[in-house]
Amino acid sequence: MDQSVVEAPKSPWGPVAPEPPSCSLTDVMSEQLAKQLEDENKTPTFTDPSADLFPSDSSETTSDLMLAKMLQMQFDKEFDDQLRREEKKFNGDSKVSISFENYRMVHPYEDSDSSEDEVDWQDTRHDPYRAEKPQTTPRKGFTGKGKNITTKHDAVNCGRKNTARMDKFAPEVLVGDGLGMDLKLSNQVFNSLKQHCHSEQRRSARLHEKKEHSTAEQAVDPRTRLLMYKMVNAGVLENINGCISTGKESVVFHANGGSLEEEPVPDEVVLKVYKTTLNEFRNRDRYIKDDYRFIDRFSKLNPRKIIRLWAEKEMHNLTRMKKAEIPCPDVVLLKKHILVMSFIGKDHVPAPKLKDVLLSSEDTKGAFYQVLHLMQQLYQECNLVHADLSEYNMLWHEGKVWLIDVGQAVEPSHPHGLEFLFRDCRNVSTFFQKRGVSEAMSVFELFNSVSGLNIPVGEEEEAEFMAEIVALEKRNEDHVQRRGKKSFPARCDDNDPPLQPDSDD
Ligand code: ADP
Ligand code: MG
Repeated sequence: MDQSVVEAPKSPWGPVAPEPPSCSLTDVMSEQLAKQLEDENKTPTFTDPSADLFPSDSSETTSDLMLAKMLQMQFDKEFDDQLRREEKKFNGDSKVSISFENYRMVHPYEDSDSSEDEVDWQDTRHDPYRAEKPQTTPRKGFTGKGKNITTKHDAVNCGRKNTARMDKFAPEVLVGDGLGMDLKLSNQVFNSLKQHCHSEQRRSARLHEKKEHSTAEQAVDPRTRLLMYKMVNAGVLENINGCISTGKESVVFHANGGSLEEEPVPDEVVLKVYKTTLNEFRNRDRYIKDDYRFIDRFSKLNPRKIIRLWAEKEMHNLTRMKKAEIPCPDVVLLKKHILVMSFIGKDHVPAPKLKDVLLSSEDTKGAFYQVLHLMQQLYQECNLVHADLSEYNMLWHEGKVWLIDVGQAVEPSHPHGLEFLFRDCRNVSTFFQKRGVSEAMSVFELFNSVSGLNIPVGEEEEAEFMAEIVALEKRNEDHVQRRGKKSFPARCDDNDPPLQPDSDD
């Protein structure tokens, strides 16, 4: 069969690839052709150069990389776990903690796959519990659109705002970490908290005022404080501990003694600070203005110095009493209106006043005889009348009665000295009679027994007795006038130095 070759028509788009030669059925059946086709199929079809280099290893390499990454991930996870444990151990329960965060192997898996048991891991730079700051509502009063409108009355926003406003409460009001906990306070709760906060502030201001005021009341004004500070600074006192008593005319402090001019000061002392407010002293003028020992100076002194005179008077009286071995505080130092003396008591606890101590009847009787003897000593040996003697100014210490508070004590020749003695006797007699001491003398007997005078006790008892006392005082006064105060026989001369003028006055 002839095969005619037909020329292909020219294509306007260029040369057309020649058609594969068609083959006859015999060709198809030919073994040679079959072999040729097989060879053609074996030729590689891709042209990747790497595939050429490692044609058969590519899938295995990918697995290794994956494996390495997984191992690294596992290692990092364990490292982080260990770091967490160490951080926890390091910080313990301390409120201030140190973060090991920077040493952590940060991994993507951490963000996507944090498990429950990692809750205690806390990034200190970002507190997940810290709530968002409350949103501020724009002036128009709402945010959002349509269904999503949030007005300024939105409960959640309001609650957060209220919590944030607690920050503005006074610093002493502990508001806790409400903001940190995303606490939402209702208006009602917030308002009552605010009200409570204001009333607390007002209350504490009142307390403060009262404290300030009472400090002034206690005579511890800046001048006094400076004096006290100087005593500590000079080493006379080691420290001033606290107030034992606040009276109308003085404040008494407990302090620990140091040393004075290389002499040790008693370990426990008191500072009796005479008040520099004059009101209380006005009505006590009579004790000092007519005391011949001070009469010259009294008229020349200004009120502040008169108060110092009281402290000085107490010091002189105590010195006299000490000489007569009357149980009373030892004088340590006088500095202006502050008198430092030994402490009657032990371990910061002052000895109780006679009025406060409950004694057996035997001890009460003994106490009466002690007081009788003390009064006699005071009058006869010290030439003094206490002038404020009562169960308030007698302490019970080491089984003995101690006399204190002798600032106002006067000599019996004082124009009212015997009247003062009579008053003292009445206080003592009444107290012991009330305490059931049958031996306690009547006021008249006591007066005569102390003074050595023999004023008769008549029918009209007190009136007559008082008349006699006043007559005696008058006679005494005339005597003083006639002979001049300088020649007045003072039975006890304590040779105390006169009041030194102060450098700062
Ligand atoms: P006031 O003139 O204010 O009555 P006091 O001298 O009586 O002053 O002291 C007031 C209180 O202070 C006393 O009742 C006593 O409790 C205490 N007190 C005073 N001096 C001493 C002291 N030396 N030792 C212990 N306590 C004292
Ligand atoms: Mg007193």
